Amino acid sequence: MARSDLLPSVAAFLRRDHGHFIDGRAVAGAGRGIDIVDPSNGETIARVAAAGAAEVDAAVAAAQRAFDGDWARTAPAQRALCLLRLADLIEAHGDELAQLETLQSGKLLGLARGFEVAQAAAFLRHYAGAATRLHGETIAPSLPSFQGERYTAFTRREPVGVVAGIVPWNFSILIAVWKFASALATGCTCVIKPSEFTPLTLLRIAELALDAGIAPGAFNVVCGDGDSGRALCAHPHIAKISFTGSPATGLAVGRAALDGRLVRTTLELGGKNPVAFLPDVPVERAVAGIMEAGFLHQGQICAAGERFFVHRSRIDAVLEALAATLDGLAVGDPMDPATQFGPLANRPHRDKIAALFAQARGDGTRIVCGGEVLDRPGFYVAPTALQVERADAALLQHETFGPVGTFLAYDDEDDLPALLNGTPYGLAASVWTQDLSRALRLVPQVRAGTVWVNMHTFLDPAVPFGGVKQSGIGREFGAAFIDDYTELKSVMIRY
Ligand code: NDP
Repeated sequence: MARSDLLPSVAAFLRRDHGHFIDGRAVAGAGRGIDIVDPSNGETIARVAAAGAAEVDAAVAAAQRAFDGDWARTAPAQRALCLLRLADLIEAHGDELAQLETLQSGKLLGLARGFEVAQAAAFLRHYAGAATRLHGETIAPSLPSFQGERYTAFTRREPVGVVAGIVPWNFSILIAVWKFASALATGCTCVIKPSEFTPLTLLRIAELALDAGIAPGAFNVVCGDGDSGRALCAHPHIAKISFTGSPATGLAVGRAALDGRLVRTTLELGGKNPVAFLPDVPVERAVAGIMEAGFLHQGQICAAGERFFVHRSRIDAVLEALAATLDGLAVGDPMDPATQFGPLANRPHRDKIAALFAQARGDGTRIVCGGEVLDRPGFYVAPTALQVERADAALLQHETFGPVGTFLAYDDEDDLPALLNGTPYGLAASVWTQDLSRALRLVPQVRAGTVWVNMHTFLDPAVPFGGVKQSGIGREFGAAFIDDYTELKSVMIRY
C-alpha cells in the first residue's frame, strides 16, 4: 500500500501530542520529547514525552488505587469479560494497529496484521480463560493432634499487587499483552513501559482497554527510555517486575529488584538459539527451516535461530541454496505487500549489525551471502549467512538479534548436545529430522526453555515459554504465569 493510503485514524493518531496513559486517560507529559522514527526511511512520524519521576509516581499511584479498589473487587468472570472485549476491539482495530506497528518498527504489514495483531487477540482470550481458573488446594495437615483437636488447611492464590511491565521494541503489541493480560487476569494492576522506539501501539491499546471496561488505573502506560524504566522498576509500590529485553539490561533489572527490596521478578531475555539439522533432512527442507527459524521479522525475534548446525555431507548444498533464497528476497517498504524483507527496527540496531559485519570481515569469517548495510534510506541490511570453522568462534557466542545466521558443519551426531548447549544462553532450540525417535533422544539433552522439533519460533498461549541459564527466570503463558503473578497464602484452621 502507498503511504497515502494510511487510515485516517492512523494519520490523526500520529498528529496527536503523545505522553502516557494514566488513570484511564491520555496524559500529555512534561518530559523530554522522543522522536518516533519510521525505520523504512528514517523520518520522524510522531513525538512522545519521556516519563520522569512525577509521571511514574502518578501511574503507580493510579495502579495502586485500582488494585485497592475497583479492579480488585471485580469478579473473575467480569475480568475475563473485559479481556475478551479487548480482544474483540483489537481485532476490530486490527488494520489501524498494524499500520501503526509497521510505521514505528518496520515490521512487514502482513506480519503485523496477520501475526502480531491476530496473536494478541488469541493470547488475550487465553488469559481471559485463566481469570476464572485461579484456585488453591485443600490440604490435610500431616502432624498428629495432641489433645484430639483437628486441623484443616487450604491455600489461596492472591494477586501480588502493582506490576511493572517492561517491553522491548520487536513485538510491541504482543509482548505488552503477555504482561498486562497476565496482570489483569490474576487481579493485579499494572504500569507498562514500552520501548522508546515503539510506544505508539500500546498507547492506542490502552484507550481500547478503557472502552473494553477495564477500570481506570488498572492498566497504565508510561513512555520513555531506560531511565523511565529504571524509575518504574525502583518505585517502592511495585510488587512485581516482568521484564522482556536484552540479557545485559535484564541482569541490571534483576539485581536492582533484589537489592534491598526483594521484588519478585520475571526475566525474559535473549538467546543464541541453536538449530540442528540431522543428516536425513533434505536440502530444500533445511533451507525452509532456516528461513522459518532465522529470518522472520529480519531475525529480530528473541527465539530466532542464530546458530545453525548442518551435517558436513550437506552443508555446501544447504548454503548454496540458502544464499540463492536470501539473495532473491524482495527488499523494500514494509507497507508494500510484495515486500519480503524490511528494515531493521532502529538506527542503533542497524549500527550494531554493521559492527558485526565488520567483525566478521576482520576475523576472516566466510561471508556466504549478505554481510553489508544496504545503500538506501532507512535502516536496511542484507540478509546474511556466515560460515565458521570452529565451535568456539566468537560469532557463535553473542546474540545478534538480526538477519544473520552463523553456520558450522558437524561430523558426528553425538557432538550435537555439546554444540547446542555451547553458550551461556538457553531460551529455545530446534532439531530437524525425519526420524522422530532420534529427535526425542536429543530433546532431554538440550538445555533450553523450549525445544521445537521440525519447527521453530511457534509460540502457543497454552504452552509455557521462558529461558534457562542466562536467558531468564520464570515462564509466561500456559498456567505457569499464575505462579508469578500471585502469592500463595496458606490458611490453617483448628476445630
Ligand atoms: P533492552 O534490554 O535494551 O530494552 C528492553 C526494555 O527495557 C526497553 O523498554 C528499555 O527501554 C527498557 N530499559 C532499558 N534500561 C532499563 C533499566 N535500567 N531498567 C528498566 N528498563 C530498562 O532490549 P531491546 O528493546 O533492545 O530488545 C531486544 C532484546 O530483547 C533482545 O536481547 C531480545 O532477545 C530480547 N527479547 C527477549 C524476548 C523473550 O521473550 N525472551 C522477547 C523479545 C525480545 P528503552 O528501549 O526505551 O531504552
